[in-house]
Amino acid sequence: MAHKYQTFADLLYASYSGLQMLAFAFGKGKYRCDKDCYAFRQSVIRKLKAGEMKIGDLYQNVIRQMTSPHDVCWYCGRSVSVCGSLTADHIFPRMKGGEDISDNLIMVCRSCNSSKGAKDLLAWYHERGEFPPLRVLVHYLKLVNQYAIANDLLNQPLEALDELDLPFDFHFFPRTYPHPEDAQDALPSQVVQLKRLEKIVPEKGEAQK
Ligand SMILES: [Zn+2]
Repeated sequence: MAHKYQTFADLLYASYSGLQMLAFAFGKGKYRCDKDCYAFRQSVIRKLKAGEMKIGDLYQNVIRQMTSPHDVCWYCGRSVSVCGSLTADHIFPRMKGGEDISDNLIMVCRSCNSSKGAKDLLAWYHERGEFPPLRVLVHYLKLVNQYAIANDLLNQPLEALDELDLPFDFHFFPRTYPHPEDAQDALPSQVVQLKRLEKIVPEKGEAQK
């Protein structure tokens, strides 16, 4: 299969930079991505390739997950009062070699857990016709990066990865991202920033009072 990206790193960085771009857009209080955002995304890709920037480890993500109140499913966002109790899901499915370590575990509702089963997380969202919540996507791509480093995949041509038995499916890495206003969720600090903005920016179509 011919790929647009030469190496696995090219694809991973192209996808991960979209998250950085959204964080940038949230930080600037932008509802839509504009040319500044796309220029920022290009600079992130360049820095990642040059080794001037790295995809971080999962430490902060795991801490955030552990210290969040366990009242919402991380996959579907429904509250426990609606979806029942939460259970630990393996982000990389156990059946595909996903490990029993905190980096690979996430608290989700039973319905999401059984519906996802041994499917790739992004393939599962794709099947549901949904873009994954950003905080889940950050976690997933960091996990992929960790795996790629440990298994020396970053500089491999994508064709070579087609042949491997991997715990993730890179065909579903997002290349295009929703605008900030359409993203299902944001990282906690970014939600606060957007909310603050909502107080001073009138709703679209709403007359100035
Ligand atoms: Zn759920």
